[in-house]
Amino acid sequence: MSAVIDLRSDTVSRPTDAMRRAMAAAEVGDDVLGDDPTVRRLEAAAAERIGKEAALYVPSGTMANLVSLLTHCGRGDEAIVGSESHILHHEGIGAPALGGISLRTVRNDDRGHIDPVEVRDAIRAGVPAPRTALVCLEDTQNRCGGAAIPAQEVRAVADEAHAAGATVHIDGARIFNAAAALETEAATLAASANTVSFCFSKGLGAPVGSVLTGPGEFIDRARAIRRMVGGGMRQAGVIAAAALYALEHHVDRLPDDHANARRLAEGLATLPHVRIDAGAVDTNIVFFELDGVDGRAFRERLAAASVLCSGTGPQRVRMVTHLDVSAEQIEVAIGAARDVLESMSPAVAAS
Ligand SMILES: *Cc1c(COP(=O)(O)O)cnc(C)c1O
Repeated sequence: MSAVIDLRSDTVSRPTDAMRRAMAAAEVGDDVLGDDPTVRRLEAAAAERIGKEAALYVPSGTMANLVSLLTHCGRGDEAIVGSESHILHHEGIGAPALGGISLRTVRNDDRGHIDPVEVRDAIRAGVPAPRTALVCLEDTQNRCGGAAIPAQEVRAVADEAHAAGATVHIDGARIFNAAAALETEAATLAASANTVSFCFSKGLGAPVGSVLTGPGEFIDRARAIRRMVGGGMRQAGVIAAAALYALEHHVDRLPDDHANARRLAEGLATLPHVRIDAGAVDTNIVFFELDGVDGRAFRERLAAASVLCSGTGPQRVRMVTHLDVSAEQIEVAIGAARDVLESMSPAVAAS
Protein backbone atom coordinates (compact mmCIF):
# COMPACT_ATOMS: atom_id res chain seq x y z
CA MET A 1 0.00 0.00 0.00
CA SER A 2 1.24 3.45 -0.93
CA ALA A 3 2.85 5.53 1.82
CA VAL A 4 0.90 8.59 0.73
CA ILE A 5 -2.61 8.90 2.16
CA ASP A 6 -4.45 10.83 -0.52
CA LEU A 7 -7.64 12.39 0.82
CA ARG A 8 -7.92 15.13 -1.82
CA SER A 9 -10.82 13.40 -3.58
CA ASP A 10 -12.36 9.99 -4.25
CA THR A 11 -11.31 10.52 -7.88
CA VAL A 12 -7.70 9.64 -7.00
CA SER A 13 -8.30 5.92 -6.45
CA ARG A 14 -6.51 3.58 -8.86
CA PRO A 15 -8.03 0.57 -10.64
CA THR A 16 -7.55 -2.63 -8.65
CA ASP A 17 -5.77 -5.67 -10.11
CA ALA A 18 -9.11 -7.44 -10.58
CA MET A 19 -10.51 -4.39 -12.37
CA ARG A 20 -7.46 -4.26 -14.64
CA ARG A 21 -7.96 -7.94 -15.46
CA ALA A 22 -11.58 -7.23 -16.41
CA MET A 23 -10.35 -4.38 -18.64
CA ALA A 24 -7.74 -6.59 -20.31
CA ALA A 25 -10.33 -9.27 -21.03
CA ALA A 26 -13.04 -6.91 -22.32
CA GLU A 27 -14.74 -7.72 -25.61
CA VAL A 28 -14.76 -4.57 -27.72
CA GLY A 29 -16.12 -3.05 -30.92
CA ASP A 30 -16.67 0.42 -32.34
CA ASP A 31 -19.12 2.04 -29.93
CA VAL A 32 -19.92 4.97 -32.24
CA LEU A 33 -21.21 2.33 -34.68
CA GLY A 34 -23.06 0.70 -31.77
CA ASP A 35 -21.04 -2.50 -31.73
CA ASP A 36 -19.13 -2.50 -28.47
CA PRO A 37 -20.69 -5.36 -26.49
CA THR A 38 -19.11 -4.31 -23.18
CA VAL A 39 -20.43 -0.74 -23.46
CA ARG A 40 -23.86 -2.15 -24.27
CA ARG A 41 -23.73 -4.40 -21.21
CA LEU A 42 -22.62 -1.48 -19.05
CA GLU A 43 -25.41 0.77 -20.32
CA ALA A 44 -28.00 -1.95 -19.73
CA ALA A 45 -26.68 -2.67 -16.22
CA ALA A 46 -26.52 1.02 -15.29
CA ALA A 47 -30.07 1.65 -16.53
CA GLU A 48 -31.39 -1.33 -14.63
CA ARG A 49 -29.56 -0.45 -11.44
CA ILE A 50 -30.95 3.10 -11.41
CA GLY A 51 -34.42 2.06 -12.57
CA LYS A 52 -34.46 3.92 -15.90
CA GLU A 53 -35.16 2.62 -19.40
CA ALA A 54 -31.82 3.39 -21.03
CA ALA A 55 -28.32 4.73 -20.39
CA LEU A 56 -25.53 6.48 -22.28
CA TYR A 57 -21.85 5.98 -21.38
CA VAL A 58 -19.85 9.23 -21.43
CA PRO A 59 -16.25 10.15 -20.54
CA SER A 60 -17.03 12.35 -17.52
CA GLY A 61 -19.67 13.53 -15.09
CA THR A 62 -19.32 16.98 -16.58
CA MET A 63 -20.24 15.64 -20.01
CA ALA A 64 -23.14 13.64 -18.56
CA ASN A 65 -24.62 16.81 -17.08
CA LEU A 66 -23.86 18.89 -20.19
CA VAL A 67 -25.47 16.36 -22.54
CA SER A 68 -28.44 16.13 -20.19
CA LEU A 69 -28.97 19.91 -20.14
CA LEU A 70 -28.52 20.16 -23.92
CA THR A 71 -31.10 17.38 -24.41
CA HIS A 72 -33.67 18.71 -21.91
CA CYS A 73 -33.40 22.39 -22.90
CA GLY A 74 -33.54 24.36 -26.12
CA ARG A 75 -31.66 27.61 -26.77
CA GLY A 76 -33.11 30.39 -24.64
CA ASP A 77 -34.53 27.98 -22.08
CA GLU A 78 -33.62 28.14 -18.41
CA ALA A 79 -32.50 25.41 -16.01
CA ILE A 80 -32.85 25.79 -12.24
CA VAL A 81 -29.83 24.60 -10.25
CA GLY A 82 -28.86 24.71 -6.58
CA SER A 83 -26.77 27.66 -5.41
CA GLU A 84 -24.07 25.18 -4.26
CA SER A 85 -24.37 22.81 -7.21
CA HIS A 86 -21.45 21.28 -9.07
CA ILE A 87 -23.13 22.28 -12.35
CA LEU A 88 -22.95 25.94 -11.29
CA HIS A 89 -19.53 26.03 -9.63
CA HIS A 90 -17.38 23.41 -11.34
CA GLU A 91 -18.59 22.78 -14.87
CA GLY A 92 -17.52 26.05 -16.38
CA ILE A 93 -20.29 27.66 -18.30
CA GLY A 94 -20.89 24.66 -20.52
CA ALA A 95 -24.68 24.82 -20.77
CA PRO A 96 -24.90 28.63 -21.26
CA ALA A 97 -21.89 28.77 -23.60
CA LEU A 98 -22.70 25.74 -25.73
CA GLY A 99 -26.48 25.50 -25.41
CA GLY A 100 -27.73 29.05 -24.90
CA ILE A 101 -29.28 27.81 -21.64
CA SER A 102 -29.45 30.20 -18.69
CA LEU A 103 -28.93 28.92 -15.15
CA ARG A 104 -31.19 30.26 -12.39
CA THR A 105 -30.35 29.36 -8.81
CA VAL A 106 -32.40 28.37 -5.82
CA ARG A 107 -30.75 28.24 -2.43
CA ASN A 108 -29.06 25.12 -1.06
CA ASP A 109 -28.91 25.42 2.72
CA ASP A 110 -25.69 24.31 4.43
CA ARG A 111 -26.94 20.71 4.44
CA GLY A 112 -27.79 20.91 0.74
CA HIS A 113 -31.55 21.06 1.14
CA ILE A 114 -33.68 22.92 -1.39
CA ASP A 115 -37.10 24.27 -0.49
CA PRO A 116 -39.69 23.01 -3.01
CA VAL A 117 -41.70 26.22 -2.55
CA GLU A 118 -38.66 28.23 -3.68
CA VAL A 119 -38.44 26.00 -6.74
CA ARG A 120 -42.13 26.56 -7.49
CA ASP A 121 -41.69 30.32 -7.17
CA ALA A 122 -38.58 30.32 -9.38
CA ILE A 123 -40.14 28.44 -12.31
CA ARG A 124 -41.07 30.78 -15.16
CA ALA A 125 -43.36 30.24 -18.12
CA GLY A 126 -41.45 32.18 -20.77
CA VAL A 127 -41.90 35.41 -22.78
CA PRO A 128 -40.55 37.84 -21.94
CA ALA A 129 -38.65 35.85 -19.27
CA PRO A 130 -37.03 32.55 -20.25
CA ARG A 131 -39.05 29.34 -19.99
CA THR A 132 -37.91 27.03 -17.19
CA ALA A 133 -37.44 23.71 -18.97
CA LEU A 134 -35.51 21.81 -16.30
CA VAL A 135 -34.84 21.60 -12.56
CA CYS A 136 -31.55 20.00 -11.47
CA LEU A 137 -30.85 18.41 -8.09
CA GLU A 138 -27.60 16.93 -6.77
CA ASP A 139 -27.34 13.80 -4.59
CA THR A 140 -25.05 13.56 -2.68
CA GLN A 141 -24.63 17.31 -2.44
CA ASN A 142 -20.85 17.63 -2.84
CA ARG A 143 -20.18 21.20 -1.62
CA CYS A 144 -22.62 20.81 1.28
CA GLY A 145 -20.51 18.20 3.04
CA GLY A 146 -21.54 15.29 0.81
CA ALA A 147 -25.05 15.43 2.29
CA ALA A 148 -27.43 12.67 1.23
CA ILE A 149 -30.75 14.07 -0.01
CA PRO A 150 -33.63 11.68 0.79
CA ALA A 151 -36.16 10.42 -1.75
CA GLN A 152 -39.11 12.34 -0.30
CA GLU A 153 -37.20 15.60 -0.70
CA VAL A 154 -36.33 14.78 -4.32
CA ARG A 155 -39.99 13.96 -4.89
CA ALA A 156 -41.25 17.21 -3.33
CA VAL A 157 -39.08 19.24 -5.72
CA ALA A 158 -39.87 16.98 -8.70
CA ASP A 159 -43.61 17.31 -8.07
CA GLU A 160 -43.36 21.12 -8.23
CA ALA A 161 -41.27 20.94 -11.42
CA HIS A 162 -43.57 18.47 -13.13
CA ALA A 163 -46.71 20.39 -12.12
CA ALA A 164 -45.23 23.43 -13.88
CA GLY A 165 -44.29 21.46 -17.02
CA ALA A 166 -40.54 21.27 -16.32
CA THR A 167 -38.46 18.08 -16.29
CA VAL A 168 -36.04 16.96 -13.53
CA HIS A 169 -32.41 15.85 -13.72
CA ILE A 170 -30.38 14.52 -10.79
CA ASP A 171 -26.62 15.04 -10.86
CA GLY A 172 -26.04 11.79 -9.01
CA ALA A 173 -22.25 11.72 -9.31
CA ARG A 174 -22.28 9.99 -5.88
CA ILE A 175 -25.86 8.70 -5.81
CA PHE A 176 -24.71 5.27 -4.55
CA ASN A 177 -23.10 7.00 -1.58
CA ALA A 178 -26.43 8.73 -0.94
CA ALA A 179 -28.30 5.43 -1.19
CA ALA A 180 -25.87 3.71 1.19
CA ALA A 181 -26.14 6.52 3.74
CA LEU A 182 -29.93 6.55 3.58
CA GLU A 183 -30.11 2.73 3.55
CA THR A 184 -32.18 2.76 0.38
CA GLU A 185 -31.71 1.93 -3.30
CA ALA A 186 -30.31 4.43 -5.78
CA ALA A 187 -33.38 3.65 -7.92
CA THR A 188 -35.61 4.87 -5.09
CA LEU A 189 -33.76 8.20 -4.97
CA ALA A 190 -33.95 8.43 -8.76
CA ALA A 191 -37.58 7.40 -9.15
CA SER A 192 -39.22 10.83 -9.39
CA ALA A 193 -36.55 12.33 -11.68
CA ASN A 194 -36.72 12.07 -15.47
CA THR A 195 -32.97 11.62 -15.88
CA VAL A 196 -30.04 10.81 -13.60
CA SER A 197 -26.28 10.91 -14.17
CA PHE A 198 -23.68 9.15 -12.05
CA CYS A 199 -19.91 8.68 -11.98
CA PHE A 200 -17.95 5.42 -11.99
CA SER A 201 -14.70 7.30 -11.36
CA LYS A 202 -15.42 8.52 -7.82
CA GLY A 203 -16.39 6.27 -4.93
CA LEU A 204 -16.86 3.33 -7.29
CA GLY A 205 -13.17 3.41 -8.16
CA ALA A 206 -13.15 3.12 -11.97
CA PRO A 207 -10.43 5.06 -13.81
CA VAL A 208 -12.85 6.95 -16.06
CA GLY A 209 -16.46 7.27 -17.09
CA SER A 210 -19.96 8.34 -16.15
CA VAL A 211 -23.42 7.54 -17.38
CA LEU A 212 -26.59 9.46 -18.21
CA THR A 213 -29.80 7.50 -17.70
CA GLY A 214 -33.43 8.16 -18.59
CA PRO A 215 -36.25 7.25 -20.98
CA GLY A 216 -35.20 5.43 -24.18
CA GLU A 217 -36.41 8.22 -26.45
CA PHE A 218 -34.43 10.81 -24.39
CA ILE A 219 -31.26 8.70 -24.46
CA ASP A 220 -31.53 8.33 -28.26
CA ARG A 221 -31.48 12.14 -28.56
CA ALA A 222 -28.71 12.40 -25.94
CA ARG A 223 -26.60 9.93 -27.96
CA ALA A 224 -26.65 12.28 -30.96
CA ILE A 225 -25.71 15.21 -28.71
CA ARG A 226 -22.86 13.23 -27.13
CA ARG A 227 -21.47 12.78 -30.64
CA MET A 228 -21.86 16.50 -31.29
CA VAL A 229 -19.80 17.47 -28.22
CA GLY A 230 -17.06 14.99 -29.09
CA GLY A 231 -18.00 12.24 -26.66
CA GLY A 232 -18.31 9.41 -29.17
CA MET A 233 -15.73 6.77 -28.26
CA ARG A 234 -14.54 3.76 -30.26
CA GLN A 235 -13.31 0.59 -28.45
CA ALA A 236 -14.63 2.03 -25.19
CA GLY A 237 -15.30 -1.46 -23.84
CA VAL A 238 -11.80 -1.38 -22.33
CA ILE A 239 -12.86 1.37 -19.92
CA ALA A 240 -16.51 0.33 -19.74
CA ALA A 241 -15.30 -3.03 -18.37
CA ALA A 242 -13.81 -1.15 -15.40
CA ALA A 243 -17.09 0.68 -14.84
CA LEU A 244 -19.04 -2.57 -15.05
CA TYR A 245 -16.65 -4.17 -12.57
CA ALA A 246 -17.10 -1.17 -10.26
CA LEU A 247 -20.88 -1.40 -10.46
CA GLU A 248 -20.80 -5.10 -9.64
CA HIS A 249 -18.13 -5.07 -6.92
CA HIS A 250 -17.68 -1.63 -5.40
CA VAL A 251 -21.18 -0.40 -4.57
CA ASP A 252 -21.61 -2.65 -1.56
CA ARG A 253 -18.37 -1.48 0.07
CA LEU A 254 -19.31 2.24 0.19
CA PRO A 255 -20.40 1.99 3.85
CA ASP A 256 -16.71 1.31 4.68
CA ASP A 257 -15.79 4.71 3.23
CA HIS A 258 -18.58 6.33 5.24
CA ALA A 259 -17.42 4.69 8.47
CA ASN A 260 -13.87 5.88 7.73
CA ALA A 261 -15.12 9.42 7.09
CA ARG A 262 -17.08 9.44 10.34
CA ARG A 263 -14.07 8.13 12.29
CA LEU A 264 -11.87 10.77 10.61
CA ALA A 265 -14.31 13.53 11.59
CA GLU A 266 -14.49 12.29 15.17
CA GLY A 267 -10.70 12.16 15.39
CA LEU A 268 -10.32 15.63 13.89
CA ALA A 269 -12.88 16.99 16.36
CA THR A 270 -10.46 16.21 19.22
CA LEU A 271 -7.64 18.30 17.69
CA PRO A 272 -6.76 21.91 18.52
CA HIS A 273 -7.84 24.62 16.03
CA VAL A 274 -10.35 22.33 14.28
CA ARG A 275 -13.98 23.38 14.02
CA ILE A 276 -16.09 20.52 12.74
CA ASP A 277 -19.60 19.11 13.10
CA ALA A 278 -18.72 15.42 13.07
CA GLY A 279 -22.40 14.51 13.23
CA ALA A 280 -22.97 16.22 9.86
CA VAL A 281 -20.84 13.71 7.96
CA ASP A 282 -23.38 11.63 5.99
CA THR A 283 -21.10 10.02 3.42
CA ASN A 284 -17.43 10.08 2.39
CA ILE A 285 -16.75 13.84 2.38
CA VAL A 286 -15.42 15.64 5.46
CA PHE A 287 -15.17 19.42 5.67
CA PHE A 288 -13.71 21.41 8.56
CA GLU A 289 -12.61 24.94 9.39
CA LEU A 290 -9.30 25.92 10.98
CA ASP A 291 -9.18 28.69 13.58
CA GLY A 292 -5.99 30.44 14.67
CA VAL A 293 -3.60 28.68 12.27
CA ASP A 294 -2.99 29.32 8.58
CA GLY A 295 -4.94 26.90 6.41
CA ARG A 296 -2.44 26.78 3.57
CA ALA A 297 0.48 26.17 5.96
CA PHE A 298 -1.52 23.36 7.58
CA ARG A 299 -2.13 21.66 4.23
CA GLU A 300 1.53 22.02 3.22
CA ARG A 301 2.84 20.59 6.48
CA LEU A 302 0.36 17.74 6.35
CA ALA A 303 1.44 16.99 2.77
CA ALA A 304 5.06 16.88 3.97
CA ALA A 305 3.86 14.17 6.37
CA SER A 306 2.38 12.29 3.34
CA VAL A 307 -1.26 13.13 4.01
CA LEU A 308 -2.92 15.05 1.18
CA CYS A 309 -6.11 17.07 1.46
CA SER A 310 -7.73 19.91 -0.47
CA GLY A 311 -8.85 23.40 0.48
CA THR A 312 -12.12 24.93 -0.62
CA GLY A 313 -11.40 28.27 1.07
CA PRO A 314 -8.41 29.78 2.88
CA GLN A 315 -9.38 28.09 6.18
CA ARG A 316 -11.73 25.40 4.89
CA VAL A 317 -10.28 21.91 4.42
CA ARG A 318 -11.82 18.97 2.59
CA MET A 319 -10.90 15.31 3.08
CA VAL A 320 -12.56 12.51 1.11
CA THR A 321 -12.39 8.79 1.83
CA HIS A 322 -12.34 6.13 -0.90
CA LEU A 323 -11.35 2.56 -1.64
CA ASP A 324 -7.61 3.25 -1.56
CA VAL A 325 -7.75 4.49 2.05
CA SER A 326 -7.93 1.92 4.86
CA ALA A 327 -9.21 2.30 8.41
CA GLU A 328 -5.59 2.06 9.63
CA GLN A 329 -4.59 4.92 7.34
CA ILE A 330 -7.39 7.05 8.79
CA GLU A 331 -5.74 6.65 12.22
CA VAL A 332 -2.37 7.59 10.69
CA ALA A 333 -3.95 10.68 9.06
CA ILE A 334 -5.53 11.79 12.33
CA GLY A 335 -2.17 11.36 14.10
CA ALA A 336 -0.37 13.35 11.41
CA ALA A 337 -2.95 16.15 11.63
CA ARG A 338 -2.52 16.16 15.41
CA ASP A 339 1.27 16.46 15.11
CA VAL A 340 1.00 19.28 12.58
CA LEU A 341 -1.58 21.26 14.54
CA GLU A 342 0.23 20.85 17.86
CA SER A 343 3.47 21.99 16.24
CA MET A 344 1.65 25.03 14.84
CA SER A 345 0.29 25.91 18.26
CA PRO A 346 2.90 27.09 20.80
CA ALA A 347 0.38 26.93 23.62
CA VAL A 348 -0.44 23.27 23.01
CA ALA A 349 3.10 22.24 22.05
CA ALA A 350 4.45 23.60 25.35
CA SER A 351 1.98 21.68 27.47
C1 LIG B 1 -17.28 15.22 -9.81
C2 LIG B 1 -18.65 15.71 -9.99
C3 LIG B 1 -19.15 15.95 -11.28
C4 LIG B 1 -18.32 15.90 -12.54
O1 LIG B 1 -17.66 14.73 -12.78
P1 LIG B 1 -16.28 14.70 -13.62
O2 LIG B 1 -16.19 13.26 -14.00
O3 LIG B 1 -15.22 15.18 -12.70
O4 LIG B 1 -16.47 15.57 -14.81
C5 LIG B 1 -20.47 16.36 -11.37
N1 LIG B 1 -21.24 16.52 -10.28
C6 LIG B 1 -20.78 16.30 -9.04
C7 LIG B 1 -21.69 16.48 -7.87
C8 LIG B 1 -19.46 15.90 -8.85
O5 LIG B 1 -19.00 15.70 -7.60
